[in-house]
Amino acid sequence: MKTLVFATNNKNKLQEVRQILGDRFEIKGLSDIGCDVDIPETSATLEGNAMQKAKFVKEHYGLDCFADDTGLECRALDGAPGIRSARYAGENHDSEANMRKLLENLQEKSDRSAQFRTVIALLYQGEEHLFEGVVRGNIITEHKGTHGFGYDPIFVPEGYDTTFAEMSAEEKNSISHRGRAVAKLAGFLAGK
Ligand code: IMP
Repeated sequence: MKTLVFATNNKNKLQEVRQILGDRFEIKGLSDIGCDVDIPETSATLEGNAMQKAKFVKEHYGLDCFADDTGLECRALDGAPGIRSARYAGENHDSEANMRKLLENLQEKSDRSAQFRTVIALLYQGEEHLFEGVVRGNIITEHKGTHGFGYDPIFVPEGYDTTFAEMSAEEKNSISHRGRAVAKLAGFLAGK
């Protein structure tokens, strides 16, 4: 079985990807290859950050690898928080503070449309590939639901009347930005 590193320590992401790719690839997380450094993400784009992480693993460990980066992009805020999504309200990755800041910044705006966008960068057999997954929706004015993480309680995907935080993990994964990007990655690897 071929080995592919997924440059993450997030157990939920690893589990989701292993469910999809695990029968043909041995998917290793960063801890499985002994990588415990905070891989730099200094690019101005999701694409750049995802590729930076994948290249770090390839350079230091010599293994084929993929990495993801996600941002929530609000139209009325010119794409913010975007690459700053995790740290929107400060360096401590506080979801409650991030949502509070976003709701404040959208208070005066009539356009509350937003999209989650995930980019997966893959380094495979010497070639670079990018896969994108997008889900469009709206930011509501209050929190609803307790599942998920990040901005889930204030994001209602288009065509639904519940937030991501009110959905089961399966339902969210089937329509989410990350689910769609992983599906594209799996489609590409299916032919390999
Ligand atoms: P990451 O690139 O997957 O680490 O995502 C960066 C940030 O985007 C996270 O810290 C969250 O704030 C936000 N985010 C990413 N994916 C989701 C999601 O599925 N729901 C809610 N927030 C998310």
